[in-house]
Amino acid sequence: MRHLRGESLARYHDLRGSQIAAYAAAHSPFYREIYAGCDLLQWQTLPTVDKAAMMANFDTFNTRGVSREKAMAVALEAERSRDFEPTVDGLTVGLSSGTTGHRGLFLVERAEQAAWAGTMLARILPAWRRRGYRVALFSRSNSNLYEGVRRRWLSLRYFDLMTPLAECTAALNAEPPDILVAPPSMLRMLAEARRDGALGVRPDQIFSVAEVLEPQDAEGIEAAFETRVGQIYQCTEGLLAVSCHHGRLHIQEDLVHLGLEPVPSPDTLARAMPIITDLWRRTQPIIRYRLNDLLTLDPRPCPCGSAFRVIARIEGRADDVCYFEAVDGGMRAFFPDVIRRMILMASDRIEDYQAFQEGPAQLRIHVRVSPGASWDEVAAALRASVTEIAAGYGTVCPALTIEEGLVALAPGRKLRRVQRVGTP
Ligand SMILES: [Zn+2]
Repeated sequence: MRHLRGESLARYHDLRGSQIAAYAAAHSPFYREIYAGCDLLQWQTLPTVDKAAMMANFDTFNTRGVSREKAMAVALEAERSRDFEPTVDGLTVGLSSGTTGHRGLFLVERAEQAAWAGTMLARILPAWRRRGYRVALFSRSNSNLYEGVRRRWLSLRYFDLMTPLAECTAALNAEPPDILVAPPSMLRMLAEARRDGALGVRPDQIFSVAEVLEPQDAEGIEAAFETRVGQIYQCTEGLLAVSCHHGRLHIQEDLVHLGLEPVPSPDTLARAMPIITDLWRRTQPIIRYRLNDLLTLDPRPCPCGSAFRVIARIEGRADDVCYFEAVDGGMRAFFPDVIRRMILMASDRIEDYQAFQEGPAQLRIHVRVSPGASWDEVAAALRASVTEIAAGYGTVCPALTIEEGLVALAPGRKLRRVQRVGTP
């Protein structure tokens, strides 16, 4: 961070970028084909890829010759059984629904996983100290990436987002974390529990992950915990940005290269869509990969001394939490990612979706199906998926309305695939 700035950062990107492109061209038949005739040293002019291209060519995109069919079977089984141990050919498989409504399938090897864990700790732990740190991490589902760790100097406690709030607060009170990492919707609930006196902890650092941290949420959380909320901007395509201790979200330019393509905006914000290149990942090279997030950069230098660019805001991943009645009384929170998966896991033929909760026991789902798909079959599979998952989480199945086709977005409105309208 101290040395990578200006010219040296550009040289570093050129070197790593062309090395990773050369590796991909040598080991991935897909990249070899699309790079045919290209100058790999001019890697920033190479053709771009996206999730659709990656998924359509999964077998040749990865450098280990793992078939999509085999990886998908393992990933789906892991989701269903909630046993996140299985691997394919020694590689961990991850499944993301992503922002485009399409599922992405990811492969990482042990060394890449270890590098990710080490990097993450290096970026979020303030400094080494004798008594170590206790980290509480909330995430939608367990996976091999987030295995619990308990060492003298580091204890990493994992919480499933579906765990009832009272259980979470009791566990946090019993073992107060120094660092708390959770999606903003969960942080909001924990902040409320702290205001009510149910939660007594006050972590040194809080990081929001997985959803957009909106300013009003950050303020409320910071006020309740009397500490700053940082952000970890990560997707399955890579660790993209982490907040520094001044609260500014720096692109991790030593790990990824972010090319930014300007997007015309109705207001004065200079929005851009990132084209990401993971400078290190080899099992499934992410090179000049278009990501469907909208970013705005903050051009001001950061007092922390890092020259890594700062993201002012991220759009397009906004979320709402839905609530359904628990069988044993009370309400159970369904985070947007849970809703997303509940819909996308139902059928391969679902291309895109929207979900609206407009009442306490109600859910309206709109889906766009692939051409030629049987609507009746998709609707039945969707109904079965929602029923099964609602029952699995001990909730009363909401009254479902399933409609074909998506609701048109009003101009200038931010896309929210999962929305809770009003207060059920
Ligand atoms: Zn900074």
